Amino acid sequence: MIVAKFGGSSLSDSDQFLKVRRILLSDPARRYAVPSAPGRRHDCDHKVTDLLYRCHDMAAHGRDCAQVFAEIRTRYMNIAAELKLDVDIGGKLDEIERRIPLEPTPDYAASRGECLNGLLLAALLGWDYVDPADCVWFRDDGTFDSERTQIDCARLLLRHNYAVIPGFYGRMPDGSVRTFSRGGSDVTGAIVARAVDADLYENWTDVSGFLTADPRVVKNPRRIEQITYRELRELSYMGATVLHEDAIFPVRKAGIPINIRNTNEPDHPGTLILPHAQGEPLAGITGIAGRKGFAIIVIEKAMMNAELGFGRRVLQAVEECGISFEHLPTGIDTMCVVLHKEALDKARGRLITRIYELTEPDSIEIHEDMALIATVGRGMVRQRGMASRLFAALSDAQVNVRMIDQGSSELNIIVGVSSEDFEDAVRAIYAAFIDE
Ligand code: ASP
Repeated sequence: MIVAKFGGSSLSDSDQFLKVRRILLSDPARRYAVPSAPGRRHDCDHKVTDLLYRCHDMAAHGRDCAQVFAEIRTRYMNIAAELKLDVDIGGKLDEIERRIPLEPTPDYAASRGECLNGLLLAALLGWDYVDPADCVWFRDDGTFDSERTQIDCARLLLRHNYAVIPGFYGRMPDGSVRTFSRGGSDVTGAIVARAVDADLYENWTDVSGFLTADPRVVKNPRRIEQITYRELRELSYMGATVLHEDAIFPVRKAGIPINIRNTNEPDHPGTLILPHAQGEPLAGITGIAGRKGFAIIVIEKAMMNAELGFGRRVLQAVEECGISFEHLPTGIDTMCVVLHKEALDKARGRLITRIYELTEPDSIEIHEDMALIATVGRGMVRQRGMASRLFAALSDAQVNVRMIDQGSSELNIIVGVSSEDFEDAVRAIYAAFIDE
């Protein structure tokens, strides 16, 4: 059994709806579809969700949002008319337009994009429509209630052989609508997959899976065929994002694989995310990801290694300043704290003073404008010579490595380089492992 989630660009107009229908009907195992709201049709277009947020915002400021709402209306009316769907979409739109100014939070408005797309898709397929407001629950404090949701979704969905359930929203105990954070239809897809105990969660988007490196840095990077949940976590931490972070947990818990597929290239196998991958990546590594915007504080003190509680005091200073640290490479008489530069900038003076007070170091140096690059691969631990290949590539590219951290996950090697070397470093690593 397959649960298929379709992103906004997959359902942005009637042609895209027809592609989605073809995909869903081509395999009877695809029994539950989770749609997003209509996305952009071209670069200058608007996402319906953005327009809905804007309507709420205007109404909340006492402004008339009729013009913006008219744009939303046209999008849906066109899809319904072009597909000759027998749904009273005009009536639904009237009701939404009337209610938006009455709602205290933006969640109701924002959720309607998925709701209307769900009604249209269900009509196009002749499938049942299930409203997530009847089975996806949030608690009074606004956090997602996964236990209650799991029970109610399983009970409700398994009564339908084929159903469409809109993504992105659910309901609060007081009956009001609540949405996940942006991109949250991915989360609904994962919840539905877990609830019905699917064999596969397909996430249909407009790219044919994850790439081994950022295409803005490396030209035409190779696609990742298979990746484990853990590797994905490492890569997305470093900024490689295709899926909503919270979408991983429900399916990971249940061991359900995720397949990232492309609605515009439906025969392409995409990327498969698995609990345990079969075999190792051909290149020895799975992918490379990195980010700029880090800073390193290097604290030096003679005989630091023998001083009890030194590390704790450094971290106490970091914690007192409300900063979460990213990495903590240490030497014998040095300890480095890697932070987001933005976080450091907010508390710099206080943090340095506190570190001096608490640890009495010989010196503190701050290296700014650092970039971190993670080279991730589940096979890396078992293969000899991986680190030497990585560092040889960086040295050949004249990149100076300022920090090294081979995470205890043993899935990756993280290097810190100066921001201006970032692109060269990523290309050098890519060339050494993937593009040999
Ligand atoms: N439509 C929502 C958004 O734009 C949710 C989603 O597409 O996943 O964030």
